[in-house]
Amino acid sequence: MRLLILLLSLFSLSLAGPIVNIESDRFSITNFELGYFVDSSDEIKFEDIKSIKFEKGPNQDSLGVKVKSAWIKIKLFNSTKQKQTLFLHQDLAYKFTSLEYFEVDSSDKLLNTQIIVPYGPLAKEQLNGADAIFTILLNPNEYKTIYIHQKTPAYHIYNFLIYSQKESVRYLIYEKVDAVLISGLLVALALYNFLIFLSSRYREYLYYSLYLLSSTLWIFYVYGSLAHYFQIYGDYPARFNFGIMLAPVFLALFIQTIFKIEEKYKFEHKLLFSIIGVSLANFLYGLLDFTSALEILSLSLSYALIIFMWISISLYLKGDKLIKIFLIAHTFYLSFSVYALLYYIGFVSSNYISSHGTSIGLIIEALLLSYLVAYKFKLMEEEKEEQKLKQIELKLLASTDPMTKLYNRRYFTEISQEVLYISKRESKDLSILMIDIDRFKRVNDTFGHQFGDEVLINLSRLLLDSQRKSDIVCRYGGEEFVILLPNTALQDATNLAEKLRKAVESLTLISPKNEDFNFTVSIGVAQIDVENEQNIELALKRADDALYEAKNSGRNRVSTKE
Ligand code: GH3
Ligand code: MG
Ligand code: MG
Repeated sequence: MRLLILLLSLFSLSLAGPIVNIESDRFSITNFELGYFVDSSDEIKFEDIKSIKFEKGPNQDSLGVKVKSAWIKIKLFNSTKQKQTLFLHQDLAYKFTSLEYFEVDSSDKLLNTQIIVPYGPLAKEQLNGADAIFTILLNPNEYKTIYIHQKTPAYHIYNFLIYSQKESVRYLIYEKVDAVLISGLLVALALYNFLIFLSSRYREYLYYSLYLLSSTLWIFYVYGSLAHYFQIYGDYPARFNFGIMLAPVFLALFIQTIFKIEEKYKFEHKLLFSIIGVSLANFLYGLLDFTSALEILSLSLSYALIIFMWISISLYLKGDKLIKIFLIAHTFYLSFSVYALLYYIGFVSSNYISSHGTSIGLIIEALLLSYLVAYKFKLMEEEKEEQKLKQIELKLLASTDPMTKLYNRRYFTEISQEVLYISKRESKDLSILMIDIDRFKRVNDTFGHQFGDEVLINLSRLLLDSQRKSDIVCRYGGEEFVILLPNTALQDATNLAEKLRKAVESLTLISPKNEDFNFTVSIGVAQIDVENEQNIELALKRADDALYEAKNSGRNRVSTKE
């Protein structure tokens, strides 16, 4: 009979709204139904509660940004055989200006009330970190109803949880760990990038770290870490919402710098500045009227997110290589944020991803942007390497003669000075050969200038083939060559000259007339006085004199000048 009455009364109660049934001693009820009522007039008192028609809803939900005042109704029943103590947690309670709890028995008699003012001076004593906790005693088979009148300046988000004592304590210890991990990771990343900025002075690192910091500030407030770990409450910490207002400004500056938008993409540059304009306007408006600024925050954020997307797609279509990484990063951020935004304005139900969407998106984006920065500097390094190679090529081009590929006179003058310096330092001999083709004018006259060139090229090849590694072969003038011979004394230089002379003599080319063609050279040899001479000018002069002597004594010979 008693069971029947119990079932009947349970049945009638369930008609009047959802009911939370306590079935064991250790419980953690995180998923249940309650009744809610949006009080747009903000005039409903507890005495009027019977006339209210509550809507059915989940224990965690967002009523959107416009709802300032709402009533919650939670029905409880103890079906265990023991007396139970229930700890009704209201997570994120610090976001409310005030919370009034009314405990009512099954015959609607008011048993107990409690007023918590998270924006008031007693917040530290009244709240448990980020949570408000209301304690309820339930005898076996007892019903009670809890009404909560809650007021908030913006974002009417609530999250009720029902715990036994042990579960309540466990929850208080572990509940905010995820937000702290997220914040810690982002702060570390921000600091790291700031240090790189200090050493490299690349502004993209600065903007990126400011972006991370401003977002982290917001996460720290909005997920309750600030209240939970530092017991900071009220209107002042709510201003950490500024973080998310400023984040698009820094992201825009980052994008602007890393993609050189101002130089390369005029239209996108204007769009970026519109993001900065809108976000800054939202921020400045917040300085005047914070609550109203919060109400338009979703709008200004949505604008920024969409324009960022627009810009990245546009740059992608214009063929920017790097933008792909940003596009992927931003798609992640956008998807998670839009999901979260839909939750904040009351369109999507509460779950971990919807209530943490922005920070999940942010973390993925932050890591991908880190990769983007690193990748960009890798590309820059590669570009630098390429430029270096080009410079070397240019230098080589400036130091050689295009026809014979030998060093030119300018380079020879430069390098000879260095070689002389090394020879001085190491007390090594240094000699010089001056080579001139015999009767070259005649070759040109008989066979044409083009064949003359061919002779020059062939002689150059012969000189190059017979040189030692340290020798420097240079085309000194039209058909005059100079070879600088480090670590070589006059006698060895003369021997080498003689070898060269013979090699040229026995070199046979085919003339344009299809006949064998031979030619000879005269060579003047001189040694540089490494101890006393400051440059090789005098030695060149001596070699030239020797050459003149060789020419005068019949050509095709080597002459030496002490
Ligand atoms: P020698 O030295 O035996 O006294 O008689 P030479 O006929 O060689 O006299 P000289 O050295 O004064 O003549 C140099 C000639 O070399 C003049 C010029 O026509 C020729 N020459 C200079 N540069 C080039 C060149 O790049 N190509 C060709 N084909 N001829 C050149
Ligand atoms: Mg000459
Ligand atoms: Mg000559």
